[in-house]
Amino acid sequence: MSAKLRVVSAIALTAAALSLAVYYQNNLPALADEQNPAARGQVDQKRLMAADKHPGEWLTTGRDFGKGHYSPLAQINTKTVDRLGFAWDYHTNTIRGLEATPVVVDGVMYTTGSVGQVYALDAQTGKELWTYDPHNDMRVNQRACCDEVNRGVAVWQGKVYVASFDAHLIALKAATGREIWRADTVVDKKKAYTSTGAPQIAGKVVVIGNAGGEYDARGYVSAYDLDTGKLAWRFFTVPGDPAKPQESPELEVAIKTWDPKSNWPMGGGGTVWGGMAYDPGLNLLYFGTGNGTYYDQSRRSPSGGDNLYISSILAINPDNGRLVWHYQEAPGDQWDYDVVQQIILADLKIGGENRKVLMQASKTGFFYIIDRKTGKVLSAEKFVPVTWADRVDLKTGRPVEAADARSYRYSSNGKKLISPSPMGGHNWNPMSYDPQTGLVYIPAIENGQEGIFSGKAFLRAWDPIHAKIVWDVPMSDWWDRPGVLATAGGLVFQGTGTGHFCAYDALTGKKLKDIDVGTSFVAGPMSYGIGGTQYVAVMAGWGGGGWNFPHPSSAAFQRGNDGRIIAFKLDGGATPMPALLPAIQPIPQPPPLTASADVVKKGGEIFTPHCASCHLNMPGSLAPDLRRMSPETHDAFKQIVLGGALRNAGMPPWDDVLTPEDADAIHAFLISISWDAYNKQQAAPKN
Ligand code: CA
Repeated sequence: MSAKLRVVSAIALTAAALSLAVYYQNNLPALADEQNPAARGQVDQKRLMAADKHPGEWLTTGRDFGKGHYSPLAQINTKTVDRLGFAWDYHTNTIRGLEATPVVVDGVMYTTGSVGQVYALDAQTGKELWTYDPHNDMRVNQRACCDEVNRGVAVWQGKVYVASFDAHLIALKAATGREIWRADTVVDKKKAYTSTGAPQIAGKVVVIGNAGGEYDARGYVSAYDLDTGKLAWRFFTVPGDPAKPQESPELEVAIKTWDPKSNWPMGGGGTVWGGMAYDPGLNLLYFGTGNGTYYDQSRRSPSGGDNLYISSILAINPDNGRLVWHYQEAPGDQWDYDVVQQIILADLKIGGENRKVLMQASKTGFFYIIDRKTGKVLSAEKFVPVTWADRVDLKTGRPVEAADARSYRYSSNGKKLISPSPMGGHNWNPMSYDPQTGLVYIPAIENGQEGIFSGKAFLRAWDPIHAKIVWDVPMSDWWDRPGVLATAGGLVFQGTGTGHFCAYDALTGKKLKDIDVGTSFVAGPMSYGIGGTQYVAVMAGWGGGGWNFPHPSSAAFQRGNDGRIIAFKLDGGATPMPALLPAIQPIPQPPPLTASADVVKKGGEIFTPHCASCHLNMPGSLAPDLRRMSPETHDAFKQIVLGGALRNAGMPPWDDVLTPEDADAIHAFLISISWDAYNKQQAAPKN
C-alpha cells in the first residue's frame, strides 16, 4: 500500500469507526435477561448467520461462523481507547494455563478453565451464575504434553458443549450448568488421549477431536447427535494396523502412503487438537491434523511416503462423516508440524474474483489461502522465515522441500537448523482477520534459526492478498505470543506474557494503550456489548506448552499464576494486580536419607521419565520444586504420588503405573538431591 493510499484509508477507517461508534453506542444490546434464565444460550443457524447485525454478541469462540476473532464494535476506538480501564474480574481459582476465548450470548459469558471446567458469568458484572466441574480422571495428566488446558465451549440451542481433559464430550443446560449428556470419546484407554479443543457445531452434530500425538495416539474426530449424545460418526485421520480392516474407504487410500512396516503401535499421530470451523452454506466441516508419530519419519514409516492424513487440512461432510477434500501441508512430516492452527473462513477478492476461502497461518511457516469449496491452494507464502521448504508449488499444491531438510536439526550441532521450530511460525493462539483493513493479525514466532529457545515473537500485521508484512510489533521474547483481537474501532488488542494488556492502531501498529495487570496472558481477547457499553474481555493465566517453567520476566514468575477473567471498558478503574511473590525461601533441612545408593539410583531412573517433565526442581517452576518439600509433604508422599491426594492441584494418582516400592525409591532419590542442594546452600558464603 502506498503511503498516500494508507493515509486516505486511515482517514476513511477512522471516520467509519467513529460513525460506527456513535451507532453502536445507541444500539448496543439490552441487559441480560436475568428473569428468564431458561432462554439462555439460544444460538442457532439463523442467529449465527446474522451475527454482524448483532455485534454485541460473541456467539462462537471466534465470534461468528468464520471465526475471525474480530468484533464490529467501535465504542472503544483509536480516539477513545486511552480511557480504557478495568470493569471486573473473576477468579477461576486455578494456577494452570487459561487458553479459551469466552462466548457471550444474551449477556451471559460462557468459558472454560483447566481440565474443561466451565464458568457462566453475568457478562456485565462478572457475577458467577454457575460453574461446572467435569470430574476428570486425572490419570490422563500422566501423559499430557502441554498443560491441562481447554480452549472453550460451543453454545447452541440452549446447551453448552465442552470437552473434558479426559476426553469426554459433555452437553450442559445453558440455563443452569446441569449435565444433560456425556460421551466418552476415547477408543483405547491405554493410549494417551486427552481433549483440549473447543467442540464444533456442524449441522446436526457436535464434533470433537483429541490430543496425544506426542505419545502414542491415533488421531480421529467424533461427531455426536446434538440432543442425545449418540455417536453419529467417527473419522480416523490415519490408518490403523493393516492386519485389520480399515474403518473407511478414505483410509484405504491413506494406507498406500505409509510403509506397511510402519510403527502401528505408536498410533501414527494426526490428532485433531485445535481449531475447527463449519461453513453452513457449503455444509463442510474443516479441521487440521497433527504431526506424525514418531516425529522422525524413519522411525514411523521407514520407507517414507506422504503418510496421509497427518499435517493436513480436511473438509468433511458432517451429515455422513465422509471426506470431501484434503490438503496436506507437510507431506511425510518430520518436524512436529501439527497444522491444527485456527482456520478462518472469509470471502476474499483474489485476482478480481470473489472467493470463499479458508485461511491458516500454519506451524509450517506458510500462510495458506485455500478455496474452501474445492481444497485448491490459492496462495501459500512464508509469513516467518522457513528453511524446511523453499516454496509451495501452486500447480501441484506440494511444498518444494529444501534439499537436505530431513537431516536438519533443532539445535546447533554444526548442521543447518529447521525453521520454524516445533513451536511453529504460529501456534494455537488465536489470530484475527479484520475485514476493514484486510489484514490478518498474527501472534507470529520467528525461531528455529538459532535454536528452539531463542528468536523472537511478533504481533504481525499480514496482508494475505499481497502476502507481505505491513507492520510488526516485537514482543518481549520468543515465548511471548498471546492471542489477538481486532475491532472495528481500528484497534488490535493483545495481552503479553509479562502481564500487560495492550491496544494498537490496526493500521500502523502504534501502541495506543498499555495496562499493567500483573497476570501473564496466553489466550486471545474478545469483545461484546451490553446496556450501551462495549467490553473487551480476556482470560489471564500462563500455561500451555512449557507451562511448568514461566520465564523469569513473566508476570507468572513474579506474581504467581492465579487465573482470572478480566473485562475492560471505557472509563473503568485501575486493574487490581496480584502481589509480588515472596522471595524464594531457603531449602529446608531434608529428612535423613536411609535408603541405599541402589534405591536412590533406581528412584532417579523412575523419576526422569514419569515426573521430570513437570517437576523441574528449579526455583520459580509452577510444579513444586521437590527439593523444598515440607515435613508434612514428606509424610504424605505416598498418599500424594499413589493415592491422588493432590489431584485437585493437577497431580494425578500414579498407582496404576508405580508400585509402593517405586514411590519409595522416588522419595529416596528426592531426599538425596534435596541433601545435595541443602549442603551446597549451607556451604555458600552468607551475605
Ligand atoms: Ca505436536
